[in-house]
Amino acid sequence: MPGVSDKSDFIRTIVREDLESGRVNGVVTRFPPEPNGYLHIGHAKAICLDFGVAQEFGGRCHLRFDDTNPETEDPRYVEAIKQDVRWLGFDWGEHEYYASDYFEQLYEWAVQLIRKGKAYVDDLSEEEIRAYRGTITEPGRESPYRDRPVQENLELFERMRAGEFPDGARVLRAKIDMAHPNMKMRDPLMYRIRHARHYRRGDAWCIYPFYDWAHGQSDAIEGITHSLCTLEFESNRELYDWYLEQLDLPEGVRPRQYEFARLNLDYTVTSKRKLLRLVQEGHVAGWDDPRMPTLAGMRRRGVTAEAIRRFCDLVGVAKAESRVDISMLEYAVRDDLNARAPRFLCVLQPLRVVLTNWPEGRVEEFEAPHWPHDIPKEGSRTLPFGRELFIERDDFMEDPPKGFYRLAPGREVRLRYAYVIRCEQVVRDAAGEIVELRCSYDPATRGGATPDGRRVKGTIHWVSAAHAKKVRVRLYDRLFRVPEPGARTGNYLDDLNPDSLVELAECRAEPALAKLPAGVHVQFERLGYFFTDPEESAPGAPVFNRVVTLRDSWARLQQRAAAGAGAGAAAGADTLSARDGEAAPTARAAAAAARRGKRKSAAQARAEARAADPELASRYERYREEFGLDEQTADLLTGDRRVAELFEAAVAASSEPAAVAAFCVRELPRLAREGDLAALPFDGGALGRLVAMQERGEITPVVAREIFALLCEQGGDPEAIAARRGLLGTVSEARLAALLDELIATHADKFEQLRGGRTGLAGFFVGQVMQRTSGRADPQAVQQLLHERLRR
Ligand code: ATP
Ligand code: MG
Repeated sequence: MPGVSDKSDFIRTIVREDLESGRVNGVVTRFPPEPNGYLHIGHAKAICLDFGVAQEFGGRCHLRFDDTNPETEDPRYVEAIKQDVRWLGFDWGEHEYYASDYFEQLYEWAVQLIRKGKAYVDDLSEEEIRAYRGTITEPGRESPYRDRPVQENLELFERMRAGEFPDGARVLRAKIDMAHPNMKMRDPLMYRIRHARHYRRGDAWCIYPFYDWAHGQSDAIEGITHSLCTLEFESNRELYDWYLEQLDLPEGVRPRQYEFARLNLDYTVTSKRKLLRLVQEGHVAGWDDPRMPTLAGMRRRGVTAEAIRRFCDLVGVAKAESRVDISMLEYAVRDDLNARAPRFLCVLQPLRVVLTNWPEGRVEEFEAPHWPHDIPKEGSRTLPFGRELFIERDDFMEDPPKGFYRLAPGREVRLRYAYVIRCEQVVRDAAGEIVELRCSYDPATRGGATPDGRRVKGTIHWVSAAHAKKVRVRLYDRLFRVPEPGARTGNYLDDLNPDSLVELAECRAEPALAKLPAGVHVQFERLGYFFTDPEESAPGAPVFNRVVTLRDSWARLQQRAAAGAGAGAAAGADTLSARDGEAAPTARAAAAAARRGKRKSAAQARAEARAADPELASRYERYREEFGLDEQTADLLTGDRRVAELFEAAVAASSEPAAVAAFCVRELPRLAREGDLAALPFDGGALGRLVAMQERGEITPVVAREIFALLCEQGGDPEAIAARRGLLGTVSEARLAALLDELIATHADKFEQLRGGRTGLAGFFVGQVMQRTSGRADPQAVQQLLHERLRR
């Protein structure tokens, strides 16, 4: 229903207010890209906001090409931008506009300003103009040409347009105030001379308007009500309003500009200029290189539009500048692909395994589901299994460190869906490199069970050598190796990640994978989400792009490096080892039970665990009596010591046993999926504090789940995650009131103007409070407090 939005941020609050107060009777926004490059993830934030607000309030959003700069613009960028906005899921209908179509109107308005004595032609050079402008602390100086008579200005401006002067000879400037505290108001430039061909207007013009002169007027022409832009335009707003006030606009709604924080994403650059250089200098294969943060690049890599929109929702809209952790984007991508990508087996770096006790020529088949239990989808395929297999080279270590549960000489490992095998012999080539493992399989373990009850901790993936297909896989990683590219040396190119693309041509895939068409998503179990490249895949010969790994291995590697454990391959392998196999059987069983409701075997496993472990049994009783948990909840929490310990530590940190219990039960499936509970990257204390935040109403349950998902992936501190992401929902009303009163005291003039009817100033006060609380205040509460004070 129009007029109703379930999202809440300061922009939507303003829009809602404007509709309620009748300042506007419909919402018109615009997305104004300059066609000088491809859209990137930062633009996605602006698009989701511009189009989202219009959609939610029953209005419309224009796509306007801000094409006032003939030197850098190109029709192919126009086409790419249109494609990307559409792909992201937004539609501008017939409202496609070009600032260059307004050149005539803008020229007329400029003449109007000259006639009113509010604009003049200046002969100073660009350099002189800069020198005359002054600084923030010193006023500027007036140009000697400032007081030219109107008639002379009119003639000169006409001759500028007629092409009588060379580039840079003269400019048209607004005549405002060279001592203005806002530098933007010191006689800003309106037109410059550029004898350059415009991609749409050809040679019709040799003077071109500056952004500030074009933008607000374009908004006015189109009847834009809310002109949303990023914070760097904050000081332009005064000029935006000034221009609009000078013009004889028809009665009606005057557009207003509102600024929000731009998206700054770690490990990424979001500047078209910098991205263009990556393309031009060949650091990437093009604008749509899957490592690029462009929408075209992300689409090609296999990120979906839904994931990007979800990410933008998670980031939210606030006034405070912040950097967004890239793991938030990766989280949104994983969460989206989890339910979208069927599971397959593929070995990236094959090592041959020969099962010495498997009869030559015998082939067995296993029915393997495409989906894990917690995804409500059906489907499976058959996996052929024979005497010769390939496993991942990394899944074997000759001299394994503690905690490595995969294959090693004399050790057992489970082959996913198949059998338990034992490594009997290592075969090397003349150079000493391992080329083959001779293993035995245990016929009693078909399907992976161990009827004798022995524990096989690790499970690895494999393919049958006789049936596997050779495929090409491209492992994409972050394009930059540091969070802030260029921060150290001033040159972002110094921070390019040399390993951002690893191309593997010798991968072995299960047969079904080779038949996939271009443009589909899959999960390679244990390895990540992949996408068949839409351009380079051929029928029967797919090329797989890695979209994202299954979990954030960077965060852990960096934590280890920071802890002095040493980086490098060994640390990496070790870090992964405890978490890469199947979860321990009891945790899994509990998880399965929580997922599917009561399941006999899992409930039995928990009962057996309590029978065998008096400590667990006594905890069950204590949880029932002391915490008042119902039987089922107490049962779920006491089937495994690690679950119980996590729970108790969380209770100790929160004093909220019931809430913690409910949270644990609901999130157990995720915990189990994440692997060994003992190796979770956070402790019970962090979990307890998270639940406490939710109980105190600082975050909503939805946000609590988001934070929990991030904790599972990268560890850390719930408070820090919430603060960093601006996820904290509310700040106490007393604090808000104090902040607001302080603001009213320091901006008494503004407050009086607001009282006098300049309702737009409400946005100023709300915005300031939002800013001072890093976006954590509830804007509606602030609004309410403001109204109370206005009524006093
Ligand atoms: P760049 O710095 O990449 O060249 P730009 O602002 O010059 O970006 P435009 O094509 O003019 O690019 O941007 C169109 C719209 O997208 C503008 O309203 C701008 O505020 C918004 N935008 C650009 N970058 C971001 C970002 N990182 N986060 C949010 N919005 C952005
Ligand atoms: Mg711009």
